[in-house]
Amino acid sequence: MPIMAQPRINHFEYRAEDQRCRIHLRLEPDGSGTLFVNASQILYLNPTAALMARLILAETEEPRAVATVVDRYRVSTSRAREDYAGLKRQLAELVRPEGACPICDLQLEVRPPFSVRPSAPYRMDLALTYRCNNDCAHCYNARPRDYPEQDTSFWKRVLDRLWEIGIPHVVFTGGEPTLRPDLPDLIAHAEGLGQITGLNTNGRRLHDPRYLARLVEAGLDHVQITVESHDARIHDRLVGASGAWEQTRQGLQQALATRLYVMTNTTLMRDNSPWLGGTLEFLAQLGVPTVGLNALIYSGRGARVGTGLPESKLPSLLDLARERTNAFRQRMIWYTPTQYCQFDPMQLELGVKGCTAALYNMCVEPDGAVLPCQSYYQTLGSLLENDWAEIWNHPLARRLREHVGLPEPCRECALKSECGGGCPLAREAGQPSAAPRPRIGAIDSSPCLVPPDLRSVP
Ligand code: SF4
Ligand code: SF4
Repeated sequence: MPIMAQPRINHFEYRAEDQRCRIHLRLEPDGSGTLFVNASQILYLNPTAALMARLILAETEEPRAVATVVDRYRVSTSRAREDYAGLKRQLAELVRPEGACPICDLQLEVRPPFSVRPSAPYRMDLALTYRCNNDCAHCYNARPRDYPEQDTSFWKRVLDRLWEIGIPHVVFTGGEPTLRPDLPDLIAHAEGLGQITGLNTNGRRLHDPRYLARLVEAGLDHVQITVESHDARIHDRLVGASGAWEQTRQGLQQALATRLYVMTNTTLMRDNSPWLGGTLEFLAQLGVPTVGLNALIYSGRGARVGTGLPESKLPSLLDLARERTNAFRQRMIWYTPTQYCQFDPMQLELGVKGCTAALYNMCVEPDGAVLPCQSYYQTLGSLLENDWAEIWNHPLARRLREHVGLPEPCRECALKSECGGGCPLAREAGQPSAAPRPRIGAIDSSPCLVPPDLRSVP
């Protein structure tokens, strides 16, 4: 089994006027680094740049920092001083709330999407429970609702372990994570370590302002609320719970009134997509800043429900969504990795969407087992019982990362590194077969559920 030294992670806060920016610097054993700005913008740093970034973020006095670089890399003082000042300017620009775009405005090299192989994912989803107060017919959960759960101290040890292996971002999910009474406590623990925390929820419990305030006070950073329709009847039918829409609407409104970064997510299906325009209008009127859309995930009930849309139906829906969200100055995020020969997200300028399971994100189940992603129910090991290297280098994790076992047409396809054959779960469920396509350019990349921009510094 490969021996893997642990990376180290450092957390810094950057404040400018009333804005707070959080930066994580993960240092790999070979000295290279990954810089995360608010867990959404990601820069890859070579060992010299990583050392300089650490010195800059630690506010080391410039003469001492330059001397450290000269000593470590045997470069001239003038060269070290120049490089140090250059990186300092670039970082200051990047972390400013309205800072420059690292691609257009700064002279930074951009690595091709999926070309970076980290030593641990950037984000870990924590499925605290599979219990839920909704009962969606299309739910991706393949486990029973009464799946064994762990207690609060177990989850705190999970968070400690994730911090040790260098994971800066955790998302509490389920099932419905707000059904766990210890959720505020776990958020506070993660925040105490320095992690960015998110919550994926149906939003029903957030209708109680006192409960929501506890999550905010605990330090929660962002929330994603599932809204299947603007029409209460459609939403309630899809989530299998009467009265759910009204609580979700109130929860969304309450969350929008807090400091949380709020986004919604809507699964495009046969039963709600004909009325997508109305849903988009509703979200705009509420003032939702970011609207997420995804296709059915072929896992759990989703693999059997039969309400997924063929990929040929997606372009017109996404055109509509982009037109409406642009008109309302909202951000739109399309999550679902597809087979580009069936539906090419780059042609619709939706960015590169490829499967990021066991690469940039993974999931811990209610009993502590690790999955390649939240919807891929094959266990890679137990987070607290197995060595991290064993989990990370599990044959399934490697197969997913390296795109092993793709169907014949994908193997020689020029788009293989970006497309990766789409979602492996959709392939396993027998969704449309691939036909290779000629190569076109790409600069951006997003994982399945919470997309960062992947950018790099030489
Ligand atoms: S042939 Fe395979 S890799 Fe190429 S675009 Fe189609 S699904 Fe993607
Ligand atoms: S594309 Fe990958 S990360 Fe997304 S649901 Fe499928 S297996 Fe999971």
